[in-house]
Amino acid sequence: MDARKLQRFEHTRNLLACPICHEPLDLQGASLVCAHRHSFDVARQGYVNLLRGAKQPQGYDRASFEHRRQVFESGLYDPIADALCHAVEAASPTLPVIDAGCGEGFFARAVRHATDTGVCAFDIVRDSIQLAAAADPEDGIMWLVADLAAIPVQDGHAGCVLDVFSPANYHEFRRILAPTGRIVKVVPTANHLRELRERAAESLRHQDYSNQRVLDHFAASCTLETRQTVTCMHQLDARTLEALVAMTPLLFNVDTDAVDWSGISSVTVEADVLVGHF
Ligand SMILES: [Zn+2]
Repeated sequence: MDARKLQRFEHTRNLLACPICHEPLDLQGASLVCAHRHSFDVARQGYVNLLRGAKQPQGYDRASFEHRRQVFESGLYDPIADALCHAVEAASPTLPVIDAGCGEGFFARAVRHATDTGVCAFDIVRDSIQLAAAADPEDGIMWLVADLAAIPVQDGHAGCVLDVFSPANYHEFRRILAPTGRIVKVVPTANHLRELRERAAESLRHQDYSNQRVLDHFAASCTLETRQTVTCMHQLDARTLEALVAMTPLLFNVDTDAVDWSGISSVTVEADVLVGHF
């Protein structure tokens, strides 16, 4: 195994908890091991599966994550990544940043490159973590297959939780965050990819999307400190448009082959960046 991929897991003792007994996990050889000898191998790609035998959710195949990667590489989400990095820098965490539901890892990598803080990123979808972990041996991120409902992090040992375009579990976020820790959540607004939504309007189950329910849940679950709306227009080439249509959850219930996407040359990217604490 690439030694740099193993090095990602050198400092787990004060962060990761065994998913079976909750004791600290230590790197021993090429495995994370707890005091009760529960052992989880570091996979060749440089990640650890802490959900052995768990059923994988449907609808997230490797192709969908490759489409996501293509869209991210086009720069579409760079303004949101920049705002996310600024929010993390402003929180100046002294303990590691946890990316909850990191997908193929674009935002975790952005934060890792922008800050000196350690980053641990997990997702329940093994294919996405395999893609993420295989990408960049230099990134130093601890990649895990893990469950949002039982985050394998010791109580109070996270400096910041990232929750980007992904469901939240505020009970778990509260448990793992240090008293000074911050949660940074990114939520798409009603304007996000408006051009695609308008084109697919006849096929959409919900004509008017609103993120108000998600914002209300955030404000009810923790103390909202700041809310920043990031907006930009992004030019699209045909290939990126195709990948975007294939990957966006907005269109998961739409027969995208039945919609005429021609003539869309740019899209609006807009999201709210929320910062809060418990
Ligand atoms: Zn254990």
